[in-house]
Amino acid sequence: MNDIPKSNLTKIIEEIIGIVGAENVQCDDYNRVKYSYGKLAEEMVALKRGILHEITGAAVHPRDKHDVQKIVKLCNEKKVPIYVFGGGSSCNMGFKPEKEGLTLVLNTHMNKVIEVNELNHTCRVQAGCMGPQLEDALNNAPEKFHTVHRFTNGHFPQSFELSSVGAGC
Ligand SMILES: Cc1cc2nc3c(=O)[nH]c(=O)nc-3n(C[C@H](O)[C@H](O)[C@H](O)COP(=O)(O)OP(=O)(O)OC[C@H]3O[C@@H](n4cnc5c(N)ncnc54)[C@H](O)[C@@H]3O)c2cc1C
Repeated sequence: MNDIPKSNLTKIIEEIIGIVGAENVQCDDYNRVKYSYGKLAEEMVALKRGILHEITGAAVHPRDKHDVQKIVKLCNEKKVPIYVFGGGSSCNMGFKPEKEGLTLVLNTHMNKVIEVNELNHTCRVQAGCMGPQLEDALNNAPEKFHTVHRFTNGHFPQSFELSSVGAGC
């Protein structure tokens, strides 16, 4: 395998940790590689052969939209690129960090259904909510959101179990 370049995010990593906590920032080689790859066949084959493309500087797991706002503000000020990892089923190299930067992983914490509105048949969902989590909340809306009826998302792509609401499901 070719060498994994050292992260050059040292100038902002302490500030990122200050926002989300050290437990939500991963700078180790395994996670930097993991969150730089989607499911494109060419990427998978190259990985198996030990050929790496660009690797993100850090995988950051925001806890809520306030974390995201602070990180985006900071990265904008410091001119650090941000990549977004939803479910990770991208087939078009959506996570390839051409200019390093950091990767926001949304499905770790930001995976909740917040509200189901019985009147207008809409719901509010965090961007990293995965297909099965959304469907489960809608199917069990009476128990979870005190609605009269049960609901369904009604959209079941092949990637239903692998994709997030924010990106595709
Ligand atoms: C086995 C398999 C089956 C598939 N089946 C289908 C299918 O039936 N129909 C279909 O359309 N596609 C399918 N795909 C492709 C893939 O699932 C879709 O592109 C899906 O929409 C990606 O959702 P995700 O949450 O995994 O996004 P990710 O792979 O995490 O991200 C996809 C892109 O969106 C960006 N992104 C992610 N979240 C956000 C956000 N909240 N805000 C802004 N940008 C964001 C990412 O940076 C990336 O560029 C399939 C893929 C696989 C591997």
